[in-house]
Amino acid sequence: MSDTIFGKIINREIDADIVHEDERCLAFRDINPQAPMHILVIPKKPIPRLADATAEDRDVLGHMMLKAADIARDEGYGDAFRLVTNNGEAVGQSVFHLHLHILGGRSFSWPPG
Ligand code: AMP
Repeated sequence: MSDTIFGKIINREIDADIVHEDERCLAFRDINPQAPMHILVIPKKPIPRLADATAEDRDVLGHMMLKAADIARDEGYGDAFRLVTNNGEAVGQSVFHLHLHILGGRSFSWPPG
């Protein structure tokens, strides 16, 4: 496992508000929510960024996308949510364990800032 803060959440070394767990991924509420629904989906495999994923990660990446849609629906935002991944410090990535942000419950502008 990675030794990022998300690796520690996977290992239950620190607490998180977990909404979903299976053999491949974990989803938990963001500690600093930017919308009424702000949930992070992470692979259990410690892939630092999307750009570091390989063809071998195809299944887990697809699984995370499908699970994000399931979670948004279960939270009541299945018809209006935004999925974001920040790849690299220059665009806002602060935790180097791949994660999808699922955001919903307010209006969003486009293009994103
Ligand atoms: P990013 O900036 O795209 O790397 O996103 C990292 C996200 O992780 C931010 O939205 C943080 O608020 C969130 N975060 C950091 N630490 C924790 C934590 N211990 N539990 C839940 N979310 C966290």
